Amino acid sequence: MSSNPRPGPDRRLRMNRAYAIIPLEDGVQLRAGDEEIVFLEVADVESAAALLSGWAAEETIERPTDALGQALFDALLDEAILVSGQPMGSSDLEDYLSHAPQVDGARLASARAELWVQDECGQLEDLLREAIQAHGVEVNLTHSPSPNSAGDDALTVALAAWERPDYHRVRQWNAEAVRRRQPCLFVDLSHGRHATLGPFFIPAEGACYECFRTRQRENSESLDELEAAEELMLRNEEALPGYGVLPAHRYWLVGLAVGELLSFWSRHRPLRTCNRAVTVDFETLRTWSEPVWRIPWCERCRQ
Ligand SMILES: [Zn+2]
Repeated sequence: MSSNPRPGPDRRLRMNRAYAIIPLEDGVQLRAGDEEIVFLEVADVESAAALLSGWAAEETIERPTDALGQALFDALLDEAILVSGQPMGSSDLEDYLSHAPQVDGARLASARAELWVQDECGQLEDLLREAIQAHGVEVNLTHSPSPNSAGDDALTVALAAWERPDYHRVRQWNAEAVRRRQPCLFVDLSHGRHATLGPFFIPAEGACYECFRTRQRENSESLDELEAAEELMLRNEEALPGYGVLPAHRYWLVGLAVGELLSFWSRHRPLRTCNRAVTVDFETLRTWSEPVWRIPWCERCRQ
């Protein structure tokens, strides 16, 4: 996949085939999904629709010489429905990203993921791996990231996920991400009827997990209880019992998490979890996000 900047006049152009060509009384509607809808007003609807359908079947399109063809060609250029680069493949990822104004194809091509998952979370691990690989991204799994290994590069992202409260382990994962300067998205399915996605630690940009915990303590209505639970986990170096996760909810959160990873690599949209945490309430079907700013004196990430 290549970046998709505005095509220059000398590039080979083709039509984005996601658009349905729908003749109306006084023009032609071009429609991709329910979001990108373009109406081209023309007098000769039948000829315009035929011309557009012909272009949709072509590998490349030359600028026509007749007036109707030129008007349509220019309108399609304006609307970025004429695009440059190779014809779309059959990949879901390419089809979806073909609508984005900008995609960083080079970053996407170098994308790698590491999964940091609790040993006992086999189903979560399988779903995450499958969901990431479905986007053509290579995945390495590790239950305990080795302190000797460096993050390969800035495009290797760790995805740290757990289903039992496990502050000891998550602290270690966070420390490792900070030490390696490796981007790391934290995914917490241990709460019960809700889950937390984020923060997405990005070195020098985003809050780390300790910043998040500190903020959480500051806002806790039952600080004594929270700290007692944390202390127990740290002392025993063990997770607490899991609340239980509905398989459907696991799918839900895995989908949100992997969508966020994709936006990190492709940059087709801003991250929603850098310096933010998203709460997913499984029972009310509500999702909202709140800021989690870096704490300047955070003992983990202040360097
Ligand atoms: Zn921090």
